[in-house]
This record gives sequence, structure tokens and C-alpha cells, in this order.
Amino acid sequence: MGASAFLFCSCNRICWGLGKPLSEQPGGTVIRYAGDPGQPVFSQSRLHSSALWKLLADHVGHQLRVAHDWDPELHGQMESGVLPAMLDADGELDVPLPAYLAGWPEDGFANLLSAGFDGTDEGFLTCERCPERLALGRVLRDRAGAPLLFHAGDPGEVANSRQPELNAAAWRFLTVHFQHPLRVVAYPPGERAPADGCVTVGGGRSGGMSLAAYVRGFTG
Ligand SMILES: [Zn+2]
Ligand SMILES: [Zn+2]
Repeated sequence: MGASAFLFCSCNRICWGLGKPLSEQPGGTVIRYAGDPGQPVFSQSRLHSSALWKLLADHVGHQLRVAHDWDPELHGQMESGVLPAMLDADGELDVPLPAYLAGWPEDGFANLLSAGFDGTDEGFLTCERCPERLALGRVLRDRAGAPLLFHAGDPGEVANSRQPELNAAAWRFLTVHFQHPLRVVAYPPGERAPADGCVTVGGGRSGGMSLAAYVRGFTG
């Protein structure tokens, strides 16, 4: 047993309970988050997976972490007097997933791109402690320049949450880097090469790791 894990952001606007982190042995590497009993695992849940991809787009540039509820940073946020909205909870200030996703154009990449929205920059989910990053695809921005969504592959490809290997890779990244400082970054293609030794998962570059290899055996 043990405490639950929460995905939260340094901006203190959002916090998402993912259930207990499960390891093969006590203190070992996290292999998945338990979620709610009786529900499908996160990568198999359309609703939860869409919400994760929206959260990544909403918090570009911010520092994200998954950590226990006793984590000092999360504790500090909770003590600050300004409570983050709890995602997938039903308290007065909380945000159920359908409300979080309402109006979000998850499937709109091709249409919005041809309507002139900017989709040039490339996004990555990076760990600031480990030499590993996950390619998230291109960043579609609204007219004001705010990131709307990430889209990998051809414009007509289905949304990232429904690309099974990429979606599973995003959930796996959150387990591999449990308690680590994470950051979603976006910049023009080729502007910044990964640091020496940094492995890029997905994205189809030479020298990176394939999504298939990254999610092999993953059950979360
Ligand atoms: Zn944030
Ligand atoms: Zn890490």
C-alpha cells in the first residue's frame, strides 16, 4: 500500500490524482498508476488520455511533476491558500474530465492548420533530471499564439490520444519519471538539438528510440 500519486504543475492551477504508484517490489520503479478500481488503465481510457494530452498543451513551458501527496512542493502549493483545481474530481472547485475537455478541438488539427493556424513548432515532454525526452509532434497554436494541442504524424492522422503507441508512451513517461521535474517544451524544428546523450523517444529521428520499444511490456 502507500499514498496516492498526483500530477501537478508549478503554475498551481491543476492537480490530478492518479491513484497509487504500483511497483513490482517495494521502493522499485513505478510500472503504472492504479487509477480507480474497476476502470480501464489510463492508456486504454479515451477520456483520461485526452485529458492528459490537453493538460500537456495547456502547460507548455511549465514544470510538471508526478509525486506523492506528501511531496514538499505539492504540500507547499496546498498550503499556499490558492488551491489548484482538482481534475477528475467532483468537489465544488473541481473539474470533471468531460468539463475539462468541453470545446477542446482535439480532432481539429488538419482543419485548423488549413484555416491558417500555426502548427510549425515541435513539442517534447522532457525530464530535467534524466537524458530522455518524448516527441509529442507539432504544436498547433490559436490566433493568440497559445498552444492548443499536439499532433504527431500526418495532419490527417488521428488525435495523439488515439495513436496507441504514442499515447502509451506518454503515460509510461509519467511512470519512468515519477517524482522527477518534467517540462513540456516547444520550439521551431531543428532549433535545439537534444543535449549530448539525450534519447528522443518517438518522432522518427535517427538515433532515437522507437515508440514500440519504449512501450513494450507497459501495462499502464
Ligand atoms: Zn501549469
Ligand atoms: Zn527523469
